[in-house]
Amino acid sequence: MQDKIYDVIVIGAGMAGLTAAIYAVRANKKVLVLEGKTHGGQIITTFHIANYPGLPKVSGVDLMNSVYNQAKELGAEIEYAEVMKVKDEGEFESVITEDFEDGSDEGKYLARTVIIATGSSERKLELENEEKLTGRGISYCATCDGGFYKDKPVAVVGGGNTALYDALYLADVASKVYIVHRRNEFRGNAFLVDKLKTKENVEFVLESVTTKLIGEKKIEGLEVENLSHEKRTLTVDGIFVAVGRVPATEIFKDLVELDEGGYVKAGEDCHTSREGVFVAGDCRVKSLRQLVTASSDGAVAATEAVHYLK
Ligand code: NAP
Repeated sequence: MQDKIYDVIVIGAGMAGLTAAIYAVRANKKVLVLEGKTHGGQIITTFHIANYPGLPKVSGVDLMNSVYNQAKELGAEIEYAEVMKVKDEGEFESVITEDFEDGSDEGKYLARTVIIATGSSERKLELENEEKLTGRGISYCATCDGGFYKDKPVAVVGGGNTALYDALYLADVASKVYIVHRRNEFRGNAFLVDKLKTKENVEFVLESVTTKLIGEKKIEGLEVENLSHEKRTLTVDGIFVAVGRVPATEIFKDLVELDEGGYVKAGEDCHTSREGVFVAGDCRVKSLRQLVTASSDGAVAATEAVHYLK
């Protein structure tokens, strides 16, 4: 078991988690990063990051591969295993990646400190067949899948910056873009709305809620309902869902305090309600969720963890 005791276990290998790992190994700590899926986090779906200082043309994949390699070369261990729970084990927190009925220690790691950096995942529309039709017309990433809809009609659902950027991107690819939003004002930036208004193939469908996905084997359209309960069918080949994100914190709800939205409660020092457990990046309560703030959190959380270990 000795080899499975770490000074710092980081959960999540996105920008926040990998930055935390870099800072913690550079402070000579034994560090393990556990990642359930692919390293890199949500930014790997972005082809061109325009607002990361000093790297004006970098892609999400290139940037995150570079951060991953940096963490590894400095000495962080990185394993692909989904964390199921974190339990109090006296001097340590035990981080469990698999539940073994025979009580074996496989999939169990002990941590003197834990950094939660699990980010967030796409919010779903919660409509019938949404999961079944994902990848068959339903997408949560316009820059990843937009190219499949060249000269075809599509809809974007949502009213934040993601929806507006998605619609702008798709307007140059698709034959027609409907933007379906439940209010008559957008949460996203006005200059993006103004830009969209100049696009002839963009139609705003406002004060409308998506009530049904149409299509059995693939998306053939969507049904929307306005405030007067009038229904309309939009015939499209693709639906891009951009209705925000939800923090990936469910497994921590008995460990640390969460706010009503599920974000881990912590201030700028990244301390959670539990001693020795820190949080970094998009899953933390914060005002700006960007790559630079995730990276900054990673540095702060690791530095605080190192202080705690002293
Ligand atoms: P967001 O700002 O939270 O917007 C989510 C949108 O989806 C809102 O318009 C919301 O409607 C709508 N919505 C939520 N649940 C819905 C549901 N069940 N059905 C229909 N509509 C629903 O999310 P986001 O656009 O993904 O942006 C997240 C953060 O990233 C923001 O801070 C944003 O500024 C930032 N961001 C920045 C950039 C950039 O600057 N390059 C690009 C993308 C995103 P209501 O408005 O009615 O609540």
